[in-house]
Amino acid sequence: MPPANRKKQGKVCRDCHRVVEGESCVICGTANLSEDWSGYLVVIDPANSEVAKRMNIKLPGRYALKVR
Ligand SMILES: [Zn+2]
Repeated sequence: MPPANRKKQGKVCRDCHRVVEGESCVICGTANLSEDWSGYLVVIDPANSEVAKRMNIKLPGRYALKVR
């Protein structure tokens, strides 16, 4: 995996850390988004991903490791 760069890649949901394309989170339906995040995580199989379990991720997708 390439190292996470610091370029803005969009917004992230503060509730579930999912990378959001648009104005609201597809999972939470919230508009509680942050543009200040770091670390890029792609979850393909949440049931078999330790990181996904730790972060309470239930759906495949792109997530941020840290959201401020
Ligand atoms: Zn969310």
